[in-house]
Amino acid sequence: MSPDANLNSKQLKRHARRLKQQRLDHRHKLVRLAKRTLTGTLVMSGLFGFIWYLTNQPSGGGRKVIARAGLHWHPELDIYLNNLRQAIPANIGISGAHNPIHTHAADNVIHLEMSGLVYADDIRLGEFFKVWGQTLTPTCIFKQCNDSAGTLKMFVNGQPSTEFDQYQMHDKDKIELRYD
Ligand SMILES: [Zn+2]
Ligand SMILES: [Zn+2]
Repeated sequence: MSPDANLNSKQLKRHARRLKQQRLDHRHKLVRLAKRTLTGTLVMSGLFGFIWYLTNQPSGGGRKVIARAGLHWHPELDIYLNNLRQAIPANIGISGAHNPIHTHAADNVIHLEMSGLVYADDIRLGEFFKVWGQTLTPTCIFKQCNDSAGTLKMFVNGQPSTEFDQYQMHDKDKIELRYD
């Protein structure tokens, strides 16, 4: 072998080694990139899945499902202002559009007649007052608010309640609102 050839073969070997190393580096880079892409995809799909889950939750935050195939409940409501029983008119919510919350007779029975999915928010006592066009808050009923003349109290089936307009009605509830 001539010195030149020897040198060349050494150079060739070194070159081959470098090429091999470069190819290995390249493969490692690809693997790392693939891993990173896969992790990214997993994180993104997890994130999108979570967002989908949140936006498609019928029971998410305050939208608790009470019934999936409707309901027909009849809670009873009595209102006393200074011990005087207040009449609750017939046909609240059914003159004009038929509201799922309504009265039929002046018998203090609230009709909750709902179809399909029913949410907790749909059956709050405050909803009935909204349909009726009257005021109920934790401190006011009609035009009477807590002051030196009286305070608003609520009882459900004989038990004191502090839920007022937020109260979720149930079938056959006896709800009493007293201002005195
Ligand atoms: Zn009805
Ligand atoms: Zn009914």
